[in-house]
Amino acid sequence: MLSQPYVLKLFTEVAAILDGHFLLSSGLHSEKYLQCARVLQYPGPAERLCADLAERFRQDGLVPDVILAPALGGILVAYAVASAMVRMGPYGHLRNLFAEREGGVLGLRRGFEIFPGERVIVVEDVITTGGSTRETITLARAHGGQVIAVGALVDRGACAAFDVPTHSLLRLDFRNFKPEECPQCRARNPLVKPGSRTPA
Ligand SMILES: [Zn+2]
Repeated sequence: MLSQPYVLKLFTEVAAILDGHFLLSSGLHSEKYLQCARVLQYPGPAERLCADLAERFRQDGLVPDVILAPALGGILVAYAVASAMVRMGPYGHLRNLFAEREGGVLGLRRGFEIFPGERVIVVEDVITTGGSTRETITLARAHGGQVIAVGALVDRGACAAFDVPTHSLLRLDFRNFKPEECPQCRARNPLVKPGSRTPA
């Protein structure tokens, strides 16, 4: 299994960890931002990281039917984890699906289905507050799926809160702030919504 320092090195080598004043999707502010896509744009590290996550599921003896991720960040992770598991065998039946938001509600579209009793592993690139992961777990269960594990490349601190076994490759403890308590806001540094533009 990959060590945390090695995984951290993969992220820092490609400047996937940024310093600044960032608005997170949770509404909180942070002085650091993890842009996981910067690592995942390279197939080599993407496959190495996701294969490592897949190996941890295999070592737990898990035999999933579905790897499910919320769009967008998790799509590539779900594919690469499923792909690695299929190569390990005996996971030939495994599907990778993603959930999408429509009118604010997370659902399965594009003809994706989870059938009652199917074993589901929910994966994400990064779990920050755990909100979207929890919604994805609820979605799988609403379709009758049995969620057997959660996995993320990076745990920002919320992974311990799930009611299923969880694996992550890297734990990062960046501090998040409510806007009214944010030191960067107090210093009047411009707030950047990551993804809307590339911070300098
Ligand atoms: Zn702020």
